[in-house]
Amino acid sequence: MNKHLEALKDAVARPLWHDPEIMPEPLAPLAADETCELLIVGGGFTGLWAAMQVKERQPDADIILIEQTFVGDGASGRCGGFLSTSLAHGQTNTEHRFPDEAERLAELGTRNMRELLETLERYNIDVRYEKTGELFVALDTESAGRIHADYQQAIAEGEDVVWFDQQAVREQVNSPLFFAGMWDRGGQDGVIDPGRLCWGLKEVLVNQLGVRIFEGTKLLAVKPLGKDAMQANCEGGVIRSDKVLLATNAFTSTIGRIRRSVIPVWDYQIATEPLTDEQLDRINWGKTSRHAIADDVNMFHYFRLTRDNRITWGGGGAVRYYFNNGIDKKFMHAPDRYEQLAKEFFEMFPQLDDVKFSHKWGGIIATSTRFCMVPGVAHDGRLAWSVGYTGHGVGASRFGARIAIEMLGYAPTDILDMQFVSRKPLPWAPEPFRWFGVRFTQNALKKADRNGGKRGLWLKFLDRLGLGFTC
Ligand SMILES: Cc1cc2nc3c(=O)[nH]c(=O)nc-3n(C[C@H](O)[C@H](O)[C@H](O)COP(=O)(O)OP(=O)(O)OC[C@H]3O[C@@H](n4cnc5c(N)ncnc54)[C@H](O)[C@@H]3O)c2cc1C
Repeated sequence: MNKHLEALKDAVARPLWHDPEIMPEPLAPLAADETCELLIVGGGFTGLWAAMQVKERQPDADIILIEQTFVGDGASGRCGGFLSTSLAHGQTNTEHRFPDEAERLAELGTRNMRELLETLERYNIDVRYEKTGELFVALDTESAGRIHADYQQAIAEGEDVVWFDQQAVREQVNSPLFFAGMWDRGGQDGVIDPGRLCWGLKEVLVNQLGVRIFEGTKLLAVKPLGKDAMQANCEGGVIRSDKVLLATNAFTSTIGRIRRSVIPVWDYQIATEPLTDEQLDRINWGKTSRHAIADDVNMFHYFRLTRDNRITWGGGGAVRYYFNNGIDKKFMHAPDRYEQLAKEFFEMFPQLDDVKFSHKWGGIIATSTRFCMVPGVAHDGRLAWSVGYTGHGVGASRFGARIAIEMLGYAPTDILDMQFVSRKPLPWAPEPFRWFGVRFTQNALKKADRNGGKRGLWLKFLDRLGLGFTC
């Protein structure tokens, strides 16, 4: 048996973060009709942070949160746990799409991160946060040139970044594929255990702030009820509320505008068993440095250490879009993708040839055509949403939640006047063009990666339409 297949043999098909030892019992589903002031649909970061921020602004708000399965079962409990300050999927995407607001977005992102961390401290929620910054590694000369240009720009703008040439980057983390790297160590970017964040927020909301949470409760339809109320038909009962916030991200929405704004893209990850000191020594990682890493290619990998020195490894060519916005449970696991990930892991770290994988899992990323959040509001300000964070939602979802609650009238501020909030993204094309388009683009991105990042005609065309993927 090949080494990578052997290493995967005993991996449990479950997110590493869904540790049965620390996962709370699910709360009871809705079993009768209810009324409340605000109904939040979706128990991921957006929904949980929305409830938290409403309570901060209006402590007596009567809130119900429903979740179709269990809190943390969506992207929030399945992600890589990279906590980033950026609100719009990285600096390049921000400057490309919102040049006039890039500076304001950076300030808002810094404030969002500060408030997020303060909230965790206030409520004593331990998410195993490590302030690592982010290390971008080049795998070839072209990429090293690109990253070095970014580095020079960052230095000119006074940012706290460090350049590593080939020898220096391998002293930090030793992969024979690493060519150079830039460590962005300013700010508060780091890594967390995303499951602990979901369950920590849930515990505080229910036990300290009086939010009613019903798990195993699916929203079936939502509509206005007269001029001042909304009616949500759910499994288990009807909920009448003044306002509704949809925090359903990539999942099929009852609202057409959300369905056109985002597509569900499946991403897969694997995690190793805890590495021994001796294994860590072989790759110089985990002792002097604990970098959170992404390689600088279109189909990038993201990899990091956990508190107990496992490596989680995701991305690469492993993302997948299934026809007609496929989100069926059968896509939750993709053996061929796990195998590909394992193979690529050993190419990156051949010194770890005795390492075994303990977990393998998939999750759905909600991708918008602007590759960052899409907020929206309807029914005279009684229904709002924030979806589509693409691969940068751990920190940004708190800000997405803030926009949505402000749209619902909870202490609105001037952020609602920003183009970032008001400008509508291009809708995704209907099927079958959507499927062909995504497929074609993925292949073009892979080809660009093989050609040192050189973008072909199709990618240039998308760039001109403002649909090109940049981080
Ligand atoms: C594999 C993977 C890796 C990622 N890595 C990172 C990373 O390292 N850093 C980063 O910043 N971002 C990352 N992301 C993105 C990030 O996880 C998401 O942007 C973020 O978690 C979105 O949170 P959310 O609450 O909006 O959505 P979700 O967490 O998906 O929550 C939506 C919830 O709504 C529920 N729901 C849907 N429909 C209904 C309904 N009808 N009734 C009731 N409930 C419903 C779902 O069950 C789900 O729990 C990653 C995503 C994936 C999938």
